[in-house]
Amino acid sequence: MAIQIVPQLSDNFAYLVIDDASKECAVVDCAEADKVIAAAKQHDVKLTAVLTTHWHGDHSGGNEDISAKVPGIKIYGASAENGRIPALTNPVADGDTLKVGALEGRVIGIPAHTNGHVAYYFPKLNAVFTGDTMFVAGCGRVFEGRAATMVDSLKKLTTLPESTQVYCGHEYTEKNLRFALTLEPNNAVLKAKHEWAVKARSEGKWTVPSTIADEKRTNPFLRSDSPELRASVKKADPKVGEDPIAIFAKARELKDHY
Ligand code: ZN
Ligand code: FE
Repeated sequence: MAIQIVPQLSDNFAYLVIDDASKECAVVDCAEADKVIAAAKQHDVKLTAVLTTHWHGDHSGGNEDISAKVPGIKIYGASAENGRIPALTNPVADGDTLKVGALEGRVIGIPAHTNGHVAYYFPKLNAVFTGDTMFVAGCGRVFEGRAATMVDSLKKLTTLPESTQVYCGHEYTEKNLRFALTLEPNNAVLKAKHEWAVKARSEGKWTVPSTIADEKRTNPFLRSDSPELRASVKKADPKVGEDPIAIFAKARELKDHY
């Protein structure tokens, strides 16, 4: 299988992206190098690159260790993270492409959680790795940008084909969906997804990947147009107004305290 989940820390995901033909593989985010190296060995593939989504330790804290243990491994990450990605060898920016064996990956700049946060999109695999920008039914906290920056970044991801599989940085799905239901209690797709996620987690299964289509229908941070969501946000803050960015910002604030 071209994509393998490698659980990291308490609720992080790293992913092996495998070119089946050449058996070369990249890992998206590395917090615990030994687990990543063991997973590569298990799947009988050769690790050639780390694709770092952003500088936070739970996504890049294993970079030094994996560089020491896998000689020659390339460490990709955004130059816009301003030197905060450990062991960086291949700085990238929005629009750049890279290769994992014969597989082509495209870098999509999606700042706001951090200034240099990027996604990695693999058209042939129909998959995008979104780090802490887009979660299943959620989005990352806005630490280094503004609400409008996050709205733009999320929008950029939603321009990918609807069938694109979304692989995010954390297993936060169940709580995200519970929060989403507080804003859209009558969204039938959302209700069904919540029930599915509760069952999946109770069986010890992961909830990734999602799809862009699913996120458009259930992710509260993509749904400033939903009348029900708008009404819920306005009920929480009657002064919020009509601006979609203000609606997003208020929803994000409500989630921060949920
Ligand atoms: Zn983060
Ligand atoms: Fe994180």
